[in-house]
Amino acid sequence: MTPFTIYLKPGREKSLLRRHPWIFSGAIAQVRGEPQAGDTVAVRSAEGAFLAWAAYSPKSQIAARVWSFREEEAVDAALIGRRIDAALAYRRMLDIDSDAQRLVYGEADGLPGIVVDRYADVLVLQLSSAGAERWREVIVKLFAKRFPKAALYERSDAEVRHLEGLKTRTGLMRGALPKMLEIREHGLRFRVDVARGHKTGFYLDQRDNRRLVATHARDRDVLNCFAYTGGFTVHALAAGARSVLSIDSAAEALEQARAHVTLNALDSARCAWRTADVFQELRRLRDQSRRFGLIILDPPKFAPTYQMAEKAARGYKDINLTAMKLLEPGGLLATFSCSGGVSAELFQKIVAAAAWDAKAEFRLLARMGQAADHPVSLDYPEGEYLKGLLLYRVG
Ligand code: SAH
Repeated sequence: MTPFTIYLKPGREKSLLRRHPWIFSGAIAQVRGEPQAGDTVAVRSAEGAFLAWAAYSPKSQIAARVWSFREEEAVDAALIGRRIDAALAYRRMLDIDSDAQRLVYGEADGLPGIVVDRYADVLVLQLSSAGAERWREVIVKLFAKRFPKAALYERSDAEVRHLEGLKTRTGLMRGALPKMLEIREHGLRFRVDVARGHKTGFYLDQRDNRRLVATHARDRDVLNCFAYTGGFTVHALAAGARSVLSIDSAAEALEQARAHVTLNALDSARCAWRTADVFQELRRLRDQSRRFGLIILDPPKFAPTYQMAEKAARGYKDINLTAMKLLEPGGLLATFSCSGGVSAELFQKIVAAAAWDAKAEFRLLARMGQAADHPVSLDYPEGEYLKGLLLYRVG
């Protein structure tokens, strides 16, 4: 089916036999033929046994990503179509209470390097590997067929593209963007800027956590750190928070958060906004002896890789420690990490260490993770990146 074959070094087939979808460059003994970036290659063990069909990416340390482990399965448009249909069927089963959902989540959906998010009638495509890039036109056609009325916008601007030797590409591919794109999450309205917003526009992965955390917001003074466009702020207000102070370093994001409060007819008199660095602002609030009944810490990725875990740990400990000191007895802390390089176990240890230093005792109310439309495959645990702890401060 393909003239290209990758032979692995002896013993390096183990992860593929466990269906892990990556082939690292260091595991490769020999490349036969001259595959170009994105070409389909057969992957074989040192002994010559077939292991997988994969997309070749010569510039990346992840030198190939698996399309299929079945020798008889052709890598073609039909395969990608089947994977998309399986991904859509899974989301239908989830019955998500939002018209904004992640429809395809890369490796976990058998579509490495491909992310597709839906925001009402707009689909956003994010390609981040050479293999994904090769099938771009096919992917667009397959989605156009399944969502004939939807506009399609490309946000292939994730930093990992550089590791694959790919340049940033963004722009409208199909249809037209509405002037004001609005979504509805758990009955609340949000506006999404798919061209300039973070990720593909909105933090869909926090959908369930926004609701869970908000169930504890009633009559509490809430501090929402790293508020972005106010997802947690709006949910907390709608759930009856007494006040919400939202902090973010991005003024435009907070401007949008304010607009979201108005859009949902919520009481803006209960809101306060600070365009500031959270690390500094938490100290200022401590010096002012402020107290809160619910604090949310949802920082950006401090450690994309394991190598950066140590520096990230210091950052997490710092904000968690200072936040804990601002929490009144009986108060709740919802603390998150979306760093792939920090495991759930390590994150809990960091938070526990912060609690010792804060001389505060906590109970674990709930563990939180990414919403189920960002699925985790047992074969690809790296896909699980978001972890959160909902903690109760004992009196
Ligand atoms: N909780 C949000 C998503 C947070 S994303 C939601 O549910 O939608 C992380 C946010 O942190 C971004 O908006 C970014 O602007 C902000 N940010 C990053 N570093 C920061 C810092 N040091 N201080 C304050 N905000 C910061």
